[in-house]
Amino acid sequence: MPAAASVHPLSPPELVVAGEPEDERVWVPQAPNVWFRPLLLNTVQGQWCNLLRVRQSGVLSRHIHPAPVHGFVLRGSWRYLEHDWVARAGYYVFEPPGETHTLVVDADGEEMVTFFNISGAMIYVDEAGAIVGRDDVFTKIDMCRRHYEACGLGADYVMRFVR
Ligand code: FE
Repeated sequence: MPAAASVHPLSPPELVVAGEPEDERVWVPQAPNVWFRPLLLNTVQGQWCNLLRVRQSGVLSRHIHPAPVHGFVLRGSWRYLEHDWVARAGYYVFEPPGETHTLVVDADGEEMVTFFNISGAMIYVDEAGAIVGRDDVFTKIDMCRRHYEACGLGADYVMRFVR
């Protein structure tokens, strides 16, 4: 028996997510050969933590973050066209608010998996800088609900990740 936790009654419950999921359906398809796996979907701060998994090479998206992003690479590698560094397994990356960049995965491995902690939104833009789409914690929740419903886990499966 673990010791009783000392926690304020208004504190949200802790959230623990195991490593490799036994069930592939936990990965939510985002685009062909691109998936995300929710870890924390924070509706109070408009923030989310997820794993991004990519099994293709090439340009994934061009986007702006109005708020900070923290990344930690678990497998594979990726880079931004606008920078001369490559994020490899074990690398931590801070993406400053306001930067526009273009995510590229090179064909040097089987897959890329990166933990991202994203605040605010992902705003997708085209090469001219025109907005073509966005994601925030609520669009991510909606994507999860649709996928988990369709794959048989049930729409409410996502609720374990929501705070
Ligand atoms: Fe980014």
